[in-house]
Amino acid sequence: MNATSAIQALEERIQRIKAELASLGDLRPGSLSQQYNVCGKAGCRCKDPQNPQRHGPYYQLSWVHRGQSTTQFIRRPFLPQVRTELATYNKFRKLTDQWVNLSLRIAQAKLLAARKARAK
Ligand SMILES: [Zn+2]
Repeated sequence: MNATSAIQALEERIQRIKAELASLGDLRPGSLSQQYNVCGKAGCRCKDPQNPQRHGPYYQLSWVHRGQSTTQFIRRPFLPQVRTELATYNKFRKLTDQWVNLSLRIAQAKLLAARKARAK
């Protein structure tokens, strides 16, 4: 494969990444964690001395955006939507990382091709 067709192949891969990025739905960064709580009610099951059963799980979403970290409780009905958005965000990050990687390879291939052309 010569330099031109190698670059072309890389550019085609970038086109596919762009199309995939354009098809992505709602997204959000972060990770979900589960919390179990103890309440203030006397004699509640969460304080049973033999077999304490804490309340929960409660779902907490944590994320960092522009250097600021935030945590928010997510109600159960919203979990599927949030999970989808988190997965979409990860896909978005993966695709942009691949795009950058391919762009660097193209830049390198173009440099080498220019050097070879000068050497002739
Ligand atoms: Zn309780």
